[in-house]
This record gives sequence, C-alpha cells and structure tokens, in this order.
Amino acid sequence: MRPLVWFRADLRTRDNTALHEACAAATRGVLAVFTICPVQWRMHDWGDPRASLVQRSLAALSKDLLDRNIALKLITRDRFRGVEEDLLKLAREHQCTALYYNSEYEVNEQDRDHRVNAAFNDAKLPVHAFHDQTVVPPDTLRTGEDKPYTVYSPYKRRWYEYYNAGKAPSARGLPKRQPEIVSTPDPIPERIGDFDPHDAHAGLWRAGQAHALSRLQAFIQHKIEAYKEERDFPAIDGTSVLSPYLAVGAISPRQCIEAAVEANRGRLDTGSKGPVHWMSEVIWREFYRQILVAFPRVCKHQPFNPRYDIPWRSDAHARADFDAWKTGNTGYPIIDAAMRQLITTGWMHNRVRMAVAMFLTKDLLIDWRWGERYFMQRLVDADLANNNGGWQWSAATGTDAAPYFRIFNPITQSRKFDPDGRYIRRFIPELASLDDQIIHEPWRHASLFDAIDYPRPMVDHSLARERALAAFKVHA
Ligand SMILES: Cc1cc2nc3c(=O)[nH]c(=O)nc-3n(C[C@H](O)[C@H](O)[C@H](O)COP(=O)(O)OP(=O)(O)OC[C@H]3O[C@@H](n4cnc5c(N)ncnc54)[C@H](O)[C@@H]3O)c2cc1C
Repeated sequence: MRPLVWFRADLRTRDNTALHEACAAATRGVLAVFTICPVQWRMHDWGDPRASLVQRSLAALSKDLLDRNIALKLITRDRFRGVEEDLLKLAREHQCTALYYNSEYEVNEQDRDHRVNAAFNDAKLPVHAFHDQTVVPPDTLRTGEDKPYTVYSPYKRRWYEYYNAGKAPSARGLPKRQPEIVSTPDPIPERIGDFDPHDAHAGLWRAGQAHALSRLQAFIQHKIEAYKEERDFPAIDGTSVLSPYLAVGAISPRQCIEAAVEANRGRLDTGSKGPVHWMSEVIWREFYRQILVAFPRVCKHQPFNPRYDIPWRSDAHARADFDAWKTGNTGYPIIDAAMRQLITTGWMHNRVRMAVAMFLTKDLLIDWRWGERYFMQRLVDADLANNNGGWQWSAATGTDAAPYFRIFNPITQSRKFDPDGRYIRRFIPELASLDDQIIHEPWRHASLFDAIDYPRPMVDHSLARERALAAFKVHA
C-alpha cells in the first residue's frame, strides 16, 4: 500500500488528518503532491501576499515532509481542469495505490475533487477524503428542524455541546516516519505564474508550521488572558495574528482550540474571559465554513440574504470613490489608516475591517463584492468563507442579525477604539503631529488642517447615513 497525499489548504505535517491516516496505512512509503494553478488562483482573486505565503509555506512543508521521509512533488497547471489527469499520471508513475486528501469546500474546489475522484475510481484506485479544516465538520451540527444554522449564537451553543461531549477529534502529533522514500522532492519554483516573486510583505510573514506554532504559543503565554479587553484596539498587538497560517493550513484549528482549552484549565466555555472569547472567534471561522457548505451561493458572488442587496452605486463617481477608499484617501483617518495598513502589511485588524467594510457599503453605498474582491487580492490571510462572511455581515446581506440600520460612525469608532490616535499616526504620518483630540477629525481645525497634506472627508457621515437608510428602507 503506497498512498499519494494531495496537499491543498493544509500545508503542515503535524495534526494533518489525511497525512496521518496515509502514513499509518502505508506499507511501501508515501508520496506527497501539491497542485499549483496560477490562473485559477487569479480567477479566485488571489493576490501576491497569499501566493507568496503559499509558495514559502511549500518550501517549509517540503523540508518537514523530508523529515518524515516523504518527497513533495509539484504539479503546475493553469487551472483546476485537467489536474485529475496529472494526479493519476503521477500516481501511476510511482505505483501509488490510493489518494488521500483533506476536503476543501468551495464550489470550484468541490467540482475539481469530483472529477479527481471519478478519474481515480475509474482507475480502481481508492480515494480517502477527510474533514480537517474545522474542529467540527461543517455539515455536522443541525437545528432542531434539521436545518443548517444560520445564526451564530445558537450554532456556538451546539458547538460547545458537541465539543464538551468529546465528539470532536483531538489534534494529533507528527505522522509516522516512513521507512522508505518514494522519489525525490521537486524544487519549489521561485516564481508562480504572474505573481510577484518578491512580494513586498514577505518579510513580515514568516512561513511554515514551526513559526505558526511558536506564534500560537507566544499568544497563549503572553496575550490570551487580556484578549477580551484588548482585541478591539488596532494599535495594540492583542490578537493572535494567526489568520494567515489558518488560511494556508500551516496550523490547525484543533491545535488552536486545544492550546486555549489548556490555558483555560481544561475548560471551553467557562473560566477565564480571554481564552473563552478567543475560542469563540475561532468558532466564527467554523460557522462561516458551515455556511459556505450549506449555502454554496455565497461562493458565487450571490448574497446570503438577497433582500438587502440593494442597487449599489456603480457609475464613474462610485469608481472614483472606490479608488479613494482603496488607497486610504477618504478623509476619515481611522478608515484611511486601516486601508494603508492593508497596503503596507497585507493584513488588517478585525475592528477596522468592520469599520472600512461598513464605510464602503453604507457611507459610499458601493457594492460589497467590490470590497470583498479587493480584500481577497490584498490580504495575506485571504479566505473565501471568512472574507465573504465579514463583508456580507457589514453590508447587511449576511447571515447574521446585523440590521441594515446598524451603521458605524467612523469618528465614534476612531475615538472609541483608537483613543490616543496611535494607530492612525502609525499609518498616516502626515497626521502624526496632531493631538489626541484633533486627530480623529482634523478638518474641524482649519488652521492646522490647511498646513497638512491630507484630504477632506469625501462624504458627510450624517448625510451618508440618511442616504443609506433611505436606500435600504425601500427593501425592508
Ligand atoms: C470585512 C471583513 C473581511 C474579513 N476577511 C477575512 C479573511 O479574508 N480571512 C480571515 O481569516 N478572516 C477575515 N476576517 C475575519 C477577521 O477579521 C480575521 O480573521 C482576524 O482579524 C484575523 O486576526 P487574528 O488572527 O489576529 O484573529 P484572532 O482575533 O486572534 O482570532 C483567531 C482566529 O479566529 C478566526 N476569526 C477571528 N475573527 C473572525 C471573524 N470575525 N470571522 C471569522 N473568523 C474569525 C480567524 O481564523 C482568526 O485567525 C474578515 C472580517 C471582516 C469584517
């Protein structure tokens, strides 16, 4: 028995279900493979930050696999279509007798996997697919009426029950080392398709499971206790910043939950506020994945709740407004600081992700899909389920009870969550000399403002709010 393990969004050797099972079943070694599909990735709005992290994670994975005596082969094909032939050819060339992989849930990935499964079944080679992206498999928890959950809080309560009943699998360590190596590893390419091989953010995002695990440990040791108090302040480094590693699968959600449960003396939903709150954020990730599985329309640019998918602005003025938002030139410092954090680091703090998404959809009435796409292209943690969930939540087309009349005031957000303007100063140096009061609304101080190279607010928030309410009300 010689398994071929197909890596996808699970670029790690520890606690990798498919790899672990394959290594346990193997009698004549294990071969690993990853498929590089640059045109498809572009079609899925991947940008340089994510492609670069994947490329560098592959280099780390290849080394980690070699430690287990497993070679990582690479297949490059522009799109998903046809990878079934490449995988089958590789399996045959190396006398592999079965295919192992962890499931991906997005629509195109599922179509690809159906084709691969059919090709392997035709060739009489068994396929073993596993749930591995979440602690609780996405199609497991159902309401009393046997429907998927569409509201987070009851989902979380069921999730707690399931986990506390010991039904979720535990994290595993390293897989069994193989006595013989099959083939030699392929070199990791310097350049993938037309993605920039020198992504400007690469230095900020070290790749590999060792780094991801040490980041988790540092967070658990030093920050998780204060997480609940500090998580909303973008100037504070108070969150785990594990999202890029969860997105490429350099770390598993089981590893995250178990480390937090341990820090919380074995408890999940009671005990210390910091760990409990952090775990509830990881459960948001599980929630959005089960939404994507139950409602695949969210993968197809369709709203979860079509009622509030209002006729968004899309003319030349809207495009110019969108450009100002993208480049961090709206005239609202907290919004611009956040958009510039995204440009300069490839990441953005959650509090301000919500603020900028609200601003685009409610203050500017611009289609959430434009923002969703731009985020996918720019974020190092770009993840369809979480990104779509966040955008639809902000636009009021989402699953949750975020009513359309919940409209964040960017100045209130700024004063509340960046009270001393530290975050704004970090990303907008032109405002650095303003004091803690003025920095949130610099235009109100004409003499100071005229001396600064910074735009006036592109919209008046109270007028924009009225415009949004009127637009949504027609559909209420
Ligand atoms: C408009 C918008 C777009 C977003 N796009 C993405 C995206 O592309 N990729 C992504 O991973 N997250 C996205 N999020 C969710 C959230 O902002 C990030 O997961 C979080 O900021 C990552 O930082 P962290 O790792 O320090 O999180 P922590 O606060 O340390 O949380 C731990 C983990 O829990 C998960 N998590 C936390 N908050 C959320 C949430 N609101 N929804 C779902 N999962 C969550 C993440 O996997 C995160 O790494 C988006 C949110 C919004 C409002």
